[in-house]
Amino acid sequence: MNIGVLALQGAVAEHIRSIRLAGAEGIAIKRTEELAEIDGLIIPGGESTTIGKLMRKYGFIEAVRKFSEEKKPVFGTCAGLIVLAQEIVGQEEAHLGLMNMTVSRNAFGRQRESFETDLNIKGIEEPVRAVFIRAPLIQKVGDSVDVLAEYNGEIVTAREGHLLASSFHPELTDDYRLHQYFADMVHEYKKL
Ligand code: GLN
Repeated sequence: MNIGVLALQGAVAEHIRSIRLAGAEGIAIKRTEELAEIDGLIIPGGESTTIGKLMRKYGFIEAVRKFSEEKKPVFGTCAGLIVLAQEIVGQEEAHLGLMNMTVSRNAFGRQRESFETDLNIKGIEEPVRAVFIRAPLIQKVGDSVDVLAEYNGEIVTAREGHLLASSFHPELTDDYRLHQYFADMVHEYKKL
């Protein structure tokens, strides 16, 4: 099973490491043609405006929408979560606009620009160590979205069918259980 990491900007190598720890093959994706080689895609953290611009420039908006239409799983972390969202607070335009949620960028304010916490995630037994860096949060989700984790009453992890999103950076610790969760999703959809 091959899981790709969109390698236009952001934390790519760390995701590849975590994918491998979860027992799948991790591949950096730089060109749209390479999407044909993978069963699931991770959009990493970084800066969502930059990632969105580069995705437009290199044809990834249409290509990833098509990938998702084929029910191949997509996982957005931090900036990647923003790229997946149907609505971004204060911005006219979404990027991929795939997942039924409204997100707010840099939502934790200056005092809490980056922090770590132990997070209970639905579907994962023990709490996961979560690293937040200028993180977005999910303000609102549609009925089809399952909330997997909250921090101080705010939604920070969610799933809608084959789409997964987290506000934090699961690739920055040795705890690869959210990657394992995504790899299981990819496995599940590959069988369909
Ligand atoms: N603040 C960034 C943005 O809005 C996301 C930060 C991150 O990915 N660590 O795009």
